[in-house]
Amino acid sequence: MPKMVHRSKTRPVRVGDLVIGGNNEVIIQSMTTTKTHDVEATVAEILRLEEAGCQIVRVACPEERDALALAEIKSRINIPLVVDIHFNYKLALMAIEAGVDKIRINPGNIGRREKVEAVVTAAKAKNIPIRIGVNAGSLEKHILEKYGYPTARGMVESALHHIKILEDLDFHDIIVSLKASDVQLALEAYQLASESFDYPLHVGITESGPLRTGSLKSAAGLGAILSRGIGNTVRVSLSADPVEEVKVAKEVLKSFGLAANAATLISCPTCGRIEIDLMAIAAEIEDYIDKIQVNIKVAVLGCAVNGPGEAREADIGIAGARNEGLLFRHGEIIRKVPEATMVEELKKEIDAIVLEKEAE
Ligand code: SF4
Repeated sequence: MPKMVHRSKTRPVRVGDLVIGGNNEVIIQSMTTTKTHDVEATVAEILRLEEAGCQIVRVACPEERDALALAEIKSRINIPLVVDIHFNYKLALMAIEAGVDKIRINPGNIGRREKVEAVVTAAKAKNIPIRIGVNAGSLEKHILEKYGYPTARGMVESALHHIKILEDLDFHDIIVSLKASDVQLALEAYQLASESFDYPLHVGITESGPLRTGSLKSAAGLGAILSRGIGNTVRVSLSADPVEEVKVAKEVLKSFGLAANAATLISCPTCGRIEIDLMAIAAEIEDYIDKIQVNIKVAVLGCAVNGPGEAREADIGIAGARNEGLLFRHGEIIRKVPEATMVEELKKEIDAIVLEKEAE
């Protein structure tokens, strides 16, 4: 699929069987909401995330019992596992020993140099990267004092401070995030970061809110950042089921032509020419194509007046007509189907196109 813009040049960094950065696709991440030591609940949530299209998952690790659960969680899931650790180097060492694929820890917050060295040596030995997570809400005191309040420059300065600690230990498998809940601040920080270093960027708008408002804010922020060619992996942060985070991230990537393996729905806004129950049909088809991992476009249109022509780029579509539907491929009507069976017919055509594309 053509990429909307040339992506900023970044260093490729391996995370499990994926590579973040370089010329690789933008990877979708999410984070579990369960207590990590509750292995059953955590694995069940991760499997749901995988099914939704999540490619990397992160779990929190605030306590030793969480670290002790990591090996079993890792053995029961199919996507790379990232562990989020604050300050505690012992937990970081336990996580690395458990075989996780990446850790998120800020080296400047670990403490004494020996502790930082121990974590870096362990990460190097297992060949796993470290994500530095700068957050506008928790910038270091000296940076806040210098700038007075969180600024993009301050956030990048914080990132460079942590990066330098790792580079001084000859560690370069680094991924960086610079999250803010303010969209403009995040945009400026990611822009400045992409001009300041070439480590891959994990992009997100943090604490963006519940499902509707958070999705919109994330889409606005991620969209602005991705449209500049910045961002190698994304996470949408919602106060909602994390499966929704994955769905929103997928839609944002699709909007920019950055999701190679996903189906897109085109549906009309309806008007007085409508001939079918379009809203119900569009919702049903949206659900149906949700898990398809092939690049196809499906259209659902209220009438045939402007319908097929308006959705010429669709691989398959249906336009309403009086008591029937018109199935069309790339703008050309292929056959008429009765209204009662048109949704089933459309699903069959979708399945056939998916098989065709998979065989290509
Ligand atoms: Fe109206 Fe038909 Fe266009 Fe839908 S496809 S908005 S019903 S003219």
